[in-house]
Amino acid sequence: PAVMNASLTASPVARGELVLQPMWDLLRVEEVLLSPVLPASYAFLAHVLLCLPYLALDALGAVSPQVRLWRLSAGSGPPPTLRQWFLCCGRILRAYLTSVLPLTALLQGLRSPELPERAPSCGQLLLEVSACLLLFDTFFFAWHLCLHRTPWLYRNIHQLHHQHRQPFALSAQDASAAELLSLLLLAMASAWLVGCHPLSEAVFHLLNTWLAVEDHCGYNLPWALHRLLPFMGGAPYHQDHHVLYRGNYAPYFTHWDRLFGTYCPSVKDTS
Ligand SMILES: [Zn+2]
Ligand SMILES: [Zn+2]
Repeated sequence: PAVMNASLTASPVARGELVLQPMWDLLRVEEVLLSPVLPASYAFLAHVLLCLPYLALDALGAVSPQVRLWRLSAGSGPPPTLRQWFLCCGRILRAYLTSVLPLTALLQGLRSPELPERAPSCGQLLLEVSACLLLFDTFFFAWHLCLHRTPWLYRNIHQLHHQHRQPFALSAQDASAAELLSLLLLAMASAWLVGCHPLSEAVFHLLNTWLAVEDHCGYNLPWALHRLLPFMGGAPYHQDHHVLYRGNYAPYFTHWDRLFGTYCPSVKDTS
């Protein structure tokens, strides 16, 4: 280990590895990372936990006019109630338990992922996560467009998600079991095609879940990511999709919609 440590400090790339190594050593628990139920459990738990700040914001909206002003649909009624959140959580949990968990567990059981001893460098992690996001954004755009352009697919797979004309954070995953499964498989395929380190893959899934929650949160917050990064659509862009039932098919970035002429900027530009 002493020789390895000396070689690790030899170059900037190696120093990057050192930054993430303690975290990777902590997370590299085979029983957890190789568990067949990990992909679905991680996706569900990350989703619910990342939604909690927005649940607090919805509750705060009852007493704070400022919070209500940040709502995209300000003036069109109160924020979703605790009962709506609870019912939505129940629907998502049922879809996970009956379909997403058993099917992804089966698939994960067939894969034999390796857990390298070395953590990725910070640069490698950044590059892999960015590549995964771009690839997943492309897959999602194509699949989402198909779901809308094929009546049978829309009715049987996607329509359930469009029950929310004014989505809220948790409704990001309020979709049919088939849609939830397809999106999780597309995310897993993106990480697999990029050839990610497992740590990069975990960060990608977390970021992917966070961005989906932000897309559906129903707030145009002053610190939202799309205000900092103009190539991202954010909540106004995706809420527009829920209002119009068409356009803005990509989940995160706007380039595919601009290229294919499906970009609908109306809500974003008037809010
Ligand atoms: Zn849609
Ligand atoms: Zn949506």
